[in-house]
Amino acid sequence: MSTKSENISWRRAVRVNIRAVRLLASKNKLMFPYAVVKALLNVAASYAGLVIMARLIGELAGERRVETLTMWALVSILTAAAFGIINGVMYHVYAVKSSLFWPNMQRIEDEKFMSMDYCDVEDQKVRDLYDQITQNRNWNNWGFPRIQWVFENIVSDFFSVIGAIALSVGLFIRKVPEGSPFACLNHPLVILGFLGLMALTAAIAPWLKVRLMEVNASWADAARLGNRLFSHFGYFRDDADSMVEYRMYPQAEIARHYSWKENTWHVGGICDRKYKGSFGLCLMGVSLGEKLLMSVIYLFVCLKAWAGAFGIGQVTQYVGAVSRLASGLTGLMQMANELRVNAGFVEKIFEFLDLPNNMYQGSLTTEKRRDRKYNVEFRNVSFRYPNSESWVLKNVSVSFEVGSKLAVVGENGSGKSTFIKLLCRLYDPQEGEILLNGVNIKKYRHEEYMAIFSVVFQDFCLLSHQLGQNVAGSCDVDETRAGKCLEEAGFGERLKELPDGLNTWLFKDFDEEGIQLSGGERQKIAIARALYKDAPFIILDEPTASLDPIAEADIYRRFDEIVGDRTAIYISHRLSSCRFCGEILVFEDGSVIQRGNHEELIGTEGKYRELWEAQAKYYERSKQYEEDKKYL
Ligand code: ADP
Repeated sequence: MSTKSENISWRRAVRVNIRAVRLLASKNKLMFPYAVVKALLNVAASYAGLVIMARLIGELAGERRVETLTMWALVSILTAAAFGIINGVMYHVYAVKSSLFWPNMQRIEDEKFMSMDYCDVEDQKVRDLYDQITQNRNWNNWGFPRIQWVFENIVSDFFSVIGAIALSVGLFIRKVPEGSPFACLNHPLVILGFLGLMALTAAIAPWLKVRLMEVNASWADAARLGNRLFSHFGYFRDDADSMVEYRMYPQAEIARHYSWKENTWHVGGICDRKYKGSFGLCLMGVSLGEKLLMSVIYLFVCLKAWAGAFGIGQVTQYVGAVSRLASGLTGLMQMANELRVNAGFVEKIFEFLDLPNNMYQGSLTTEKRRDRKYNVEFRNVSFRYPNSESWVLKNVSVSFEVGSKLAVVGENGSGKSTFIKLLCRLYDPQEGEILLNGVNIKKYRHEEYMAIFSVVFQDFCLLSHQLGQNVAGSCDVDETRAGKCLEEAGFGERLKELPDGLNTWLFKDFDEEGIQLSGGERQKIAIARALYKDAPFIILDEPTASLDPIAEADIYRRFDEIVGDRTAIYISHRLSSCRFCGEILVFEDGSVIQRGNHEELIGTEGKYRELWEAQAKYYERSKQYEEDKKYL
């Protein structure tokens, strides 16, 4: 990404920032108005203090009347106290609002991920784009967080400038008495010269700061790589599983190498070189510019006071007001440039948020049928993954009888999981169609269509939530139902042993007492979750791949007893797991090459029999084999 501000026109920058502020404001109600009120009150408090202080000092340097001094001292205390309370409340109100900024921002991205076409979720290009966005944010708050920060500063600087103008008018209209050697300070050209010099010195700092920002932004790619390497290799010790590998083989050195020595941030790395070079010089220039500016202000104000244009009290007010005017203007210029540099990063976010949904979004509702009489049919379906030339499914035609038990078997890579992904409409086929009760599934509302399926995927994922929440997939847990599903899934005994029952946390991430689970226990919970959803179609997509064939067959058989009247689909490359099914489809190279029940298939020459005989060898001496022998 090009991050040079020159490449982003002001017009483009303004447009993208307005769009971003609108979006953020819609997700963070009242946050921006509160920021305005907070800034206004802060600036008012600061200027009130300045004016009162000027009066006090003026009185001290002048007539020194006790009652006037007492009055100003009291006003000072009361004003400070009043603003202290109001600003304290406002600070709190704003802090509460803005504390939700990050979660709300992440919610925008979560919603996008949840709503985008599934093929995009899996697409590496989309992953890279999102990675870039998060790295930009984590590294230097580029993107949405910077907009919030810039907004706070812009409103504050704006009010600062307005207040400063109001309080510094006297500096220019109060004249040095005629006859004084400094009467020339009254001349409009001198005043213009002073303002010009002030504007010039005030512009140096933001100009240099923009250069700094651009240099900083130009490291985005290197920083991203550095952060990525560090976040991958720098925390290897946090993962107990990989620690075993690191101890077994001397791999820690590799991790250290990539997390540090090869890193952007390492001594001699890109950041180090820049900090020592142009970046450091710019920083020095910024500091010098600010000091120069203050010197010019002091010189002008003090000369006028010394020449008799106003008293010592006014010096405090004018120096304070003019320096705030300068810093306010500097701030405004800098913030405007920050928005311009940041616009490139915000555009990246919108590139992600604007990714189109190319899948057809239907609007039909799926009838909620009590009798669960849903009929699903694959009609001449062929499919290949996006960006791939090879067909993964070829001309598949299958129809599911309601309440039937269908097995899909075949060797790894034959297309079984893809078949399920199409059934759940995670992808659309390029050829043929899938019908629900005779209507193409594209025409249904996607979320309603998805609601009729419960799938236990091959690489299912349990979350570090409470057990009951995992089963219910929600914070609202129907405890009786969750307990029953766990019982049915074979987790009942373990559940009884848990002192916190359904409230037990899974894993140790959030609770020291959280439980670690064996592979088998995880599967049982995943199955209980599928049962809890109580969808008319229930699918097991080899969630048992890490188990031995006998344990897998056991789970499948038990599962078959509890699915009741649901339509069940079992996927496995192990034929013994599915032989109880009424119909078995044999997949090879993306095509259904055989179908029938176990007896029919075993009695026929073909792939099924070939696989069955090959696999039977692995558990010949087992009890399972004794039972299976009957079929051989
Ligand atoms: P099975 O479930 O029978 O093991 P899959 O349906 O997972 O087979 O995979 C079938 C083929 O599709 C394999 O060649 C696999 O490499 C390919 N494949 C699976 N997922 C993707 C994907 N997301 N992108 C591209 N190819 C994929």
